[in-house]
Amino acid sequence: MKLKDLGEFDLIKRIAGRVRLSGRVLKGIGDDAAVLEYKKDGYLLFTSDMLVEGRHFHKSSGAYLVGKKSLSVNISDIAAMGGTPFCALISLGAPSSLDVGFVDDLYKGIRAAAKKFNVDLAGGDTVNSEKIVINIALLGEVKKSNLVLRSGAKEGDDIFITGSIGGSSKGGHLDFIPRLKEAGFLAGNFKINSMIDVSDGLLADLGHILKASGKGAFIYEKDIPVSKKAEDFKSAMSEGEDFELVFTLAKNKSAELMKIWPFKTRLSKIGEIQKKGQGFFLIRKDGRKEKPEVKGYAHF
Ligand code: ADP
Ligand code: MG
Repeated sequence: MKLKDLGEFDLIKRIAGRVRLSGRVLKGIGDDAAVLEYKKDGYLLFTSDMLVEGRHFHKSSGAYLVGKKSLSVNISDIAAMGGTPFCALISLGAPSSLDVGFVDDLYKGIRAAAKKFNVDLAGGDTVNSEKIVINIALLGEVKKSNLVLRSGAKEGDDIFITGSIGGSSKGGHLDFIPRLKEAGFLAGNFKINSMIDVSDGLLADLGHILKASGKGAFIYEKDIPVSKKAEDFKSAMSEGEDFELVFTLAKNKSAELMKIWPFKTRLSKIGEIQKKGQGFFLIRKDGRKEKPEVKGYAHF
């Protein structure tokens, strides 16, 4: 069997099924970051993401933006757990023919994101490779009471999303601000039952929450914030790399959240968590109830 026959998600499932964890790892494969025992009132968060030339960026994308993205995607995953990042390792693969200036600019972008979000760059690895590859592993921490998993959505929760979705391929995927301060505010002031960042597309990523939580959901087209840059509604729902936060919160807390939300970042309530038997439905503007075709971005 080839990877393309298995698909990305089943490949990860296959890997996960063969991994045995010690008690130190409280949450392994299956969330935005791994959760490890750390100290009395805090957990350690550990995540990594890889960007590959030709797949996530091209040389013409601009090295600075690629560098900034490579750290920002990891920060977004730490944010989605309710945590704060603090230390990164950067591994770089590059062809020997590459201009040193490209690497300088790449690191300028990495350093800019590191400075903005208070991340120490503590090491990494460098290898010769045909294509440019950047992998960053990022450590973060979270107060135990602030930890948010994908698996905690409860029936009756309202579903929210920050910002807007769609059109990321027009450049937003390279030049976005991870929603770290928004996530910190949410996790610190509310009992957020579940959260994920939108990397695979709203439908796929909300789908990950529903699967991990064993729940269904209704979402409403009229309430979904689609970016002006999006081609159309359908592509906005599944294009991915929006790096917005999708989270769920008990309905009786929603009005308070909307009232005290202190950021310019838009916040939209887009639906409700249902029990599993209700399934996952998109209510179109004309009232039609559709089973969404969950076709997020998958590598194979
Ligand atoms: P995200 O989009 O939030 O970065 P991914 O879809 O990349 O998450 O990964 C989903 C989960 O699978 C994460 O817990 C991640 O650590 C895990 N994972 C992905 N690839 C691998 C792999 N090759 N080996 C082990 N775990 C993996
Ligand atoms: Mg994620």
